[in-house]
Amino acid sequence: MKVTEHIRNAKGKTLFSFEILPPVKGESVQNIFAAIDPLMEFKPPFIDVTYHREEYMYKKRENGLLERVTTRKRPGTVGICAAIMNKYHVDAVPHIICGGFNKEETENALIDLDFLGVDNVLVLRGDAIKSEGRFVPDPEGHSYASELLEQVMELNQGKYIHEEVTRNKTNFCVGVAGYPEKHFEAPSLRSDMKYLKQKIDGGAEYIVTQMFFDNKKYFEFVDKCRENGVNVPIVPGLKPITTLNHMSILPSVFHVDLPDDLVDELDKCKDNAAVKEVGIEWAIQQSKELMEAGVPVLHYYTMSKSHVVKRIAEALF
Ligand code: FAD
Repeated sequence: MKVTEHIRNAKGKTLFSFEILPPVKGESVQNIFAAIDPLMEFKPPFIDVTYHREEYMYKKRENGLLERVTTRKRPGTVGICAAIMNKYHVDAVPHIICGGFNKEETENALIDLDFLGVDNVLVLRGDAIKSEGRFVPDPEGHSYASELLEQVMELNQGKYIHEEVTRNKTNFCVGVAGYPEKHFEAPSLRSDMKYLKQKIDGGAEYIVTQMFFDNKKYFEFVDKCRENGVNVPIVPGLKPITTLNHMSILPSVFHVDLPDDLVDELDKCKDNAAVKEVGIEWAIQQSKELMEAGVPVLHYYTMSKSHVVKRIAEALF
């Protein structure tokens, strides 16, 4: 079922959902089930599975020179989606990205997803390869999420890349990313909003936000969206802080601010056990306020820490 249908059917009740990462190559799918099992009692109607692009590694050759090899550290997004749907009978939402794909490969991936019965995709540009400073699209691929979205919409109309005639129409419901604190590359919030609206006008049916730790940022973002004619459901994405180094990692990797009150509480913590308690309590309070405001879904970035998300969900659902 489409994410938008789940939201409609809930008739104003806030739903619970979460995102998981495929395991590092070589690990078993059982790790994924172990992360999902504790959260199933909260009845997520859908589970997101991230997509991870290739990275460069340098291997030492026998002659001492370094050889650059390309590898994908977390493959398996499509397989995990199929496994989730098969085992738990809930919708799996694969993330699909521009980076590292040409249009033909994207089309083939979408055909696989359609045949598997996947009804939703979260369409993203993807980040730069870690060792490259900026995002570089595949020469035959897409530069922005809006272009990838256009390809999905064409497939929804039965238009395949090299076919003159209309073929099987897919019926994907597309979600896109939104940034309450602005995407870090955007010169201004207004510019970022312009391109977010372009994605919605292009056919995206819901937005999932980047993590944020101050609900005010989310509420202001929703107001801005509505002022600009972006009227689709906006699903808040939440990440519980669990370690002290999150205080520096989250702002530098995800370009988000931590509110002073949260930083003050974290500063008092003697160890990561104490940090985890502060992080869980903060996420519970954030979630409660968002729920009272009637958000459609509370969507948690588990980052393989489902026991933490379970504690939060127990307090809310
Ligand atoms: P876009 O919408 O393409 O925007 C990228 C930047 O370009 C923005 O600054 C925007 O303002 C600007 N822009 C957009 N269109 C244009 C245009 N036509 N001309 C000029 N500028 C333009 N990454 C992964 O690799 N895998 C994942 O699974 C993944 N999941 C995510 C899930 C969520 C909920 C979120 C919020 C992010 C996720 N990301 C993931 C990270 C995401 O790929 C990065 O944040 C990426 O840098 C931007 O992706 P986007 O889809 O928002 O890009």
